[in-house]
Amino acid sequence: MARKYFLARHLGPLLASLIFLGIGFGVTAGADRFISDAEWVSHTHSVIARIDQVDATLRDIEAAQRGYMLAGRVSTLADYYAARERMPIVLKGLGEAVRDNPQQVARFKRLDRLLQMRQEQIAATLAVYERQGLAAVPGGIHKDARPTAEAVRALLAEMTETETELLRARDQSSHESAMLLKMLAMAGIPFGIGVIVMVYVMMLRENRRRQLAERKSLEGNRKLRQSVQELEGAAADLGELSRFASMLQSCTHTEEALQLTTHVMLRLLPGTGGTIYRVRASRDYAEALVHWGTHALPSEDMLPVGDCWALRRGQPYLARSRSGDAFCVHVHGPGPEGAASACIPLMAQGVQLGFIYVSAPDEAFMSRTHIIDTAAEQLSMGLSNLQLQERLRIQSIRDPVTGLFNRRYLEESLGRELARCQRRNLPLALMMLDLDHFKRFNDTHGHAGGDALLAGLGKLLQAMSRQEDIACRYGGEEFTLILPEAAPEAALARAEEIRKAVSELRVQHLGAELPAATVSIGVAGLLPHGNTPELLLQRADEALYAAKRNGRDQVMLAGR
Ligand code: GH3
Ligand code: MG
Ligand code: MG
Repeated sequence: MARKYFLARHLGPLLASLIFLGIGFGVTAGADRFISDAEWVSHTHSVIARIDQVDATLRDIEAAQRGYMLAGRVSTLADYYAARERMPIVLKGLGEAVRDNPQQVARFKRLDRLLQMRQEQIAATLAVYERQGLAAVPGGIHKDARPTAEAVRALLAEMTETETELLRARDQSSHESAMLLKMLAMAGIPFGIGVIVMVYVMMLRENRRRQLAERKSLEGNRKLRQSVQELEGAAADLGELSRFASMLQSCTHTEEALQLTTHVMLRLLPGTGGTIYRVRASRDYAEALVHWGTHALPSEDMLPVGDCWALRRGQPYLARSRSGDAFCVHVHGPGPEGAASACIPLMAQGVQLGFIYVSAPDEAFMSRTHIIDTAAEQLSMGLSNLQLQERLRIQSIRDPVTGLFNRRYLEESLGRELARCQRRNLPLALMMLDLDHFKRFNDTHGHAGGDALLAGLGKLLQAMSRQEDIACRYGGEEFTLILPEAAPEAALARAEEIRKAVSELRVQHLGAELPAATVSIGVAGLLPHGNTPELLLQRADEALYAAKRNGRDQVMLAGR
């Protein structure tokens, strides 16, 4: 291709120029030759004319001489002298004219001598005539006149013949030059037109090639600009995602993380609607937790996990109405023409946490699903971390056997609740419970049996607590219940209810029902002054001790 262009663009014009140059040279040489031939022709004509002049002048001299001698007219003598005077001039002209031709020069020299001779003969004849009259000159002619005159005439004829010969040759050459010029013109004009057409076509092609190259370069520029914009967009997305990741790490609650995600998604995927779903602990249903934007394709708030392709396959699922894709069952299609949806699973350590559902009236966001993927990955990790933190937090404040708060949590919250209630002038009561003869129970049913009873009691206490109560395992088989805002009488009644419920509690262990257990409870309300967590605990413990001493399975109120 490049080689072809090289030939067309460089060699073609070069060849055309060379041919034009050749034609130019040919035309110039032909014209020169033509001009020179024409000059020679004209020169030869002038030589012939001069020969004729010499001949005519000689005839004038002879005629004047004979006329003078035969008619005796003196006026004729004047003609004779005039012709004699003209002769050297005419001869000089002829001498100069034939200077270039050595052959003619030689003839001219002979002619000059013969003419000299002839003129002398005429002069001699005239002189004799003048002195002795016509009779002395027989016929008025010199005795040697005829041969000389004949020699002159022959020489003149010879010279004329030579010139005529030359004239013919020069005429021929001039004709040839004219023919050459004609041929060059005939060849040159079509060739010139051909070259002009060729150059024109080449220019057109070159122009087209340039336009193509220009278009390509424009297209290249456009693509470059587009990729720069895309890169800038990608960098901005990356920045947003990395900010999102670091903010997720600072979230302390799942709700906070979810809210943050909706804000980020709204910025990253403008024009879309989205919902974040969580798979319930039972792993049968997924429930909507938070939304952003407005859905082009609304979705169920609660759905069986099998209704979402992403949950079923553990992979993102994209559906476009234009491509005729099937939407998930939880999606309310068909929505506006060109609408599209994406379900991206939230997974951490192989466990399905939920999924992100996005929908939009057009497919534009589909080119950015990698952003949803990344955000989903980060959110999964964040949620998983928060769940872990939550578990650790629960482990640190909960007792694993009973599921109740532990003693550390009791001490923390008792101080806080006491301060809150006193600040607001509200009552508070504390219950302390201890299983009766638990050592014996353990001895009879084993430690595992004892644990089963403790767990059963934990559940019972939890069930019988109000929202604001705090039930704790104080240690061993001892429990406490903080009752914020409860007056001593109400606390006493609640304690009685619990005591009764424990006596009726039946716990299953190893397929058998354990015998009923009883509990002794000490209740302490607030003193008018000087309440501290330690004092409250101590007074409740004393009341409990009193209940034990009093025969167990009963409730006692601490004194004021
Ligand atoms: P009292 O009616 O006076 O309270 O008699 P008691 O036997 O319950 O009293 P004591 O405090 O002497 O005995 C407590 C027993 O509780 C001792 C121990 O064997 C048992 N125990 C303490 N913690 C646990 C536990 O976590 N699991 C089980 N199974 N038993 C425990
Ligand atoms: Mg005890
Ligand atoms: Mg006990």
